[in-house]
This record gives sequence, C-alpha cells and structure tokens, in this order.
Amino acid sequence: MRADLRHVDTWLFDLDNTLYPVESGFMGQVERRMTDYVQEVTGLSRDEAYRLQKTYLAEYGLTLGGLVAHHGVDPKAYHALFHDISLEGLAHDPALLAALERLPGRRLIFTNADDVHAERVLDRLGLAHLFDDVFHIGLADYVPKPDRAAFDKMSAAHAIQPAATAFFEDSQRNLEPAHELGMTTVLVGPNATASTAPFVDYKTSNLTAFLMDAETRDAA
Ligand SMILES: [Mg+2]
Repeated sequence: MRADLRHVDTWLFDLDNTLYPVESGFMGQVERRMTDYVQEVTGLSRDEAYRLQKTYLAEYGLTLGGLVAHHGVDPKAYHALFHDISLEGLAHDPALLAALERLPGRRLIFTNADDVHAERVLDRLGLAHLFDDVFHIGLADYVPKPDRAAFDKMSAAHAIQPAATAFFEDSQRNLEPAHELGMTTVLVGPNATASTAPFVDYKTSNLTAFLMDAETRDAA
C-alpha cells in the first residue's frame, strides 16, 4: 500500500539509525563510548555503568539527562565525547539520496545529537546539501526528544505546521509527541513493522523504498 503523503511539504528526519542503517554499527561505538564515560564519572563497574546508562536513557530520553541531573555533567563536554568517533561504517547511499531529493518541500533534521556530530555524519553520508537545516540538541538547550519542550522549540524555530509535516524516526517513543501535535509519523528500522503503537501512522524497514513509493504533492 502506497503511503499518501500528498499533504506533506515539510520532511522532518531523525538522523542516527534513521538516515543510515542500524547495521552500520555506528551507534554501537557511540554506546560503548557512553559506557566508558559513565564508568569514569561514577566509578562503577562496566556492567553497572551500562545498566545505569540504560536507566537514565529510559528515564530522561537520553543518558545525558541522568548524568546532568545526578552527576553534574556539562552537556557540551558530554557531546564532545562523540566528536572523534570513526565514521568508517557509514557510506553514501545513492538510492536514499535520490529518494530524499525527490521530496517536494523542505527537509529538516531533528536530532538528539549535537551540531558537530550531525554535521560530521551528514557530510560522511553525502546528504548535507539535501537538508535546509539541522535542529540539534544544543538548540533545544540540551532537552532531548521525546520531551515536548524539544518539539516546541524545534517547531517554533522552523514555523512547523504539523498537518503538513511528516516525521521519520527509528525511536518509536519520539513519534508520540509528534503524533499528538498532528504530524504524520513514520517509524523506520528493522523492527518497525512489528510496532502496534497507535501513534505510528506508517512503518517501514526500508526508508528508501518507502519514500520512492509514497504519493507526494508533486509526484504523478
Ligand atoms: Mg535515531
């Protein structure tokens, strides 16, 4: 079934694990570096640090939230941890590039990563020129999705009209506020099709195929 996205003129994308596949292993590196850091800050064993990292992720939307609240970590210093992560696993995907290029209207990134990370990854993927702007966590005062405040800041910064916006994400919970606001929501990734969440409008394990197949405003 083709997705009917003829009402959409603003294409909002998460970055990590949405515009490149989970299998790249890239986020695995990010996770390991986080665990190193949680260990360093807390003095916990590796297993305990990993568990705490996941607890903070669940409670705050980002591991960083817990580190700021309970350990006085500076968000900027935390994000700098990821600035030199190897981009080796990420590659150009000409089919995805073509699929994004054909979307009528503006394309935006909405990410819980910071500006440096977003720029590095978009450059490496060869997608930077396709996006009008990047709304990164620094612009949200380090308040992450799915916090409604992050959505409100992003929406204000880009004069978002939810009824004409589609939001693509690999993290299901980040789609809930988007749906409440009235955006069209698309869950992306290998486990997406198993989702039964009522706030997910579309789900796909293949973003490129989904975009190529969708009915859009200008397409025949
Ligand atoms: Mg993601």
